[in-house]
Amino acid sequence: MARLVIVSNRVPAPRERGNLAGGLAVALRDAIRGRETMWFGWSGGTVGGDDEPPAPGITTVGQLTFATLDLPEKLFRGYYEGFSNGMLWPLLHSRMGLAEFRRTDLEAYYAVNEAFARALAPLLRPDDLVWVHDYQLIPLGAALRRAGVTARIGFFLHVPFPASALFLALPQADRLLRDFAAYDLVGVQVPEDADHLTESLDAIGIDAPTARAFPIGINPKSFATTARKAETGSDADRLRQSLGDRALIIGVDRLDYSKGIPHRFRGFAQLLKRFPEHRNHVTMIQIAPVSRGDVAQYRALRKELDELAGRINGENAEFDWVPLRYLTRAVPRNTLAGFYRKARIGLVTPLRDGMNLVAKEYVAAQEPADPGALVLSRFAGAAIELDGAVLVNPYDPDETAEALHHALRMPLEERQERWRRMMDAVETNTASAWARNFVSALEDRPARG
Ligand code: UDP
Repeated sequence: MARLVIVSNRVPAPRERGNLAGGLAVALRDAIRGRETMWFGWSGGTVGGDDEPPAPGITTVGQLTFATLDLPEKLFRGYYEGFSNGMLWPLLHSRMGLAEFRRTDLEAYYAVNEAFARALAPLLRPDDLVWVHDYQLIPLGAALRRAGVTARIGFFLHVPFPASALFLALPQADRLLRDFAAYDLVGVQVPEDADHLTESLDAIGIDAPTARAFPIGINPKSFATTARKAETGSDADRLRQSLGDRALIIGVDRLDYSKGIPHRFRGFAQLLKRFPEHRNHVTMIQIAPVSRGDVAQYRALRKELDELAGRINGENAEFDWVPLRYLTRAVPRNTLAGFYRKARIGLVTPLRDGMNLVAKEYVAAQEPADPGALVLSRFAGAAIELDGAVLVNPYDPDETAEALHHALRMPLEERQERWRRMMDAVETNTASAWARNFVSALEDRPARG
C-alpha cells in the first residue's frame, strides 16, 4: 500500500498524537490506521529573523511520522493572519468587503508555501500519495512540482469557493488559479464549489483537473454513543436542572463572522416578539469560543455580539428567566454531545459555510424515539445532504423566527421522519468514507513519474 503524506497548516499537537483528537485528525483517523503515514505542517512555533527555517522536526508514533517546520515570525504573520485569514477566508466565504489585501502578505504566503515545499520534497518518495489540505496551502502542489516531485498530489478545499466574479476580484487571482493545475485531484465539499472553481479556471483559460465534491462528515456511531453517555453526565444534568421544563435551542460555532451569529440572535429576538407564546418557555444557549481574536474584524464581531446579547436579555428577560445564554468559552466536544441531545432545536445559521459539522453532530446526537429538529441555513454545505432540516435564509431574522416557531411546535411523527432522513445522510457520508473516497480517487490517477 502506498504511503500517505498529509500536509496541513496545523498538525496534531504532541499530546493529541496518541489518540488523534482534534478536527482534521478525527476525520482522517480511519484513513491513517493500518497505513504508513507522514503528516507534514507548521510546528506551531516561530523563529526570529528572515532566515531559512531550520530543518523539520521529526517524531514517529507507530506507523505515523510527524514532520513539522518552525516558521520565521514575520513571514508567518503575513502568510497566516495576513493573506490566509485576512484575505482568503473572507473572499472564499463571499465577504469581500471584510477582506484586506496587502502585497507583502501575498508574498509571505508564497514564501511559506515555497519553504514548506523545500522542506518536504526531500522527504517524499515517487510512489507516495500526497494530500494537501485547505486554503493556506493552495500553491504548495506547484511549489512541490518545481522542486521535482512527481508523486501524485491531491488538494482538498475545506471552505467554500465563491462565484468567479467574486473570486476574480482578488489581485493576482490568476496566479493562485494557475497553481491548481499542479494537482492530480482537487476536492471540494459540494458540487456548487466545484462549479465555481471550474468557472474561475475557465475564465482565464487554465487547464486544471476538474474539481469533485467529497462531502466531509463525522463518525456518527461513536458520536451517538458519546451523546448517550454525556446525557446522564453532571454537566448535562446541571443544564437540565437550570432549564426547568423550558425547551432548549442550541447554537455552537467558533466566533466567526461567517457563522451569522448576530443574524441568529436577531432571529431569536423576533421569535420572542412575534410569537410571544414561547416567552418563558424557551431558552437559547449560544456557545461561541473566541477565535482569531487578534484580527480586527473578529474583535468587532465580539463587541457587536456582547451588545446584542445584552440588549436582547435586557429587553426580554423576566426576573426568573434569561432567554439567551451566551458563552465565549470553548466547551469540550463530548460535553456538547450531551447538550445537543437535550436540545429541542439545533440552530445552525451560517451565512456561508463549507460543510458545518455541528449540524451533523446535532443530528447524530438525537434520541431516535424523540429527536429534536434542526433549523439550518441553506448556505451551509450540509444543507445539500440534510434536507430533513427546516432550511432558512439566515439573512432574514423573520424567516429564522418562523422556522423556530414551526420547529418548536413540530409533531413527534414529523420530527422522527425528518430526523431519519438526515441521519441516513450522516451515516452515509461519514468521516471515514470521505477520507477513503478521496484517497482512492487520488490512487486512481495516473502517476506522472
Ligand atoms: N466545537 C467544540 N467546542 C466548542 C465549539 C465547537 O468542540 O466550544 C467543535 C464542534 O463540535 C465541531 C467543530 O468544533 O466538531 C466545528 O466544526 P464546524 O465544521 O462546525 O465549523 P468550523 O469551526 O470548522 O468552521
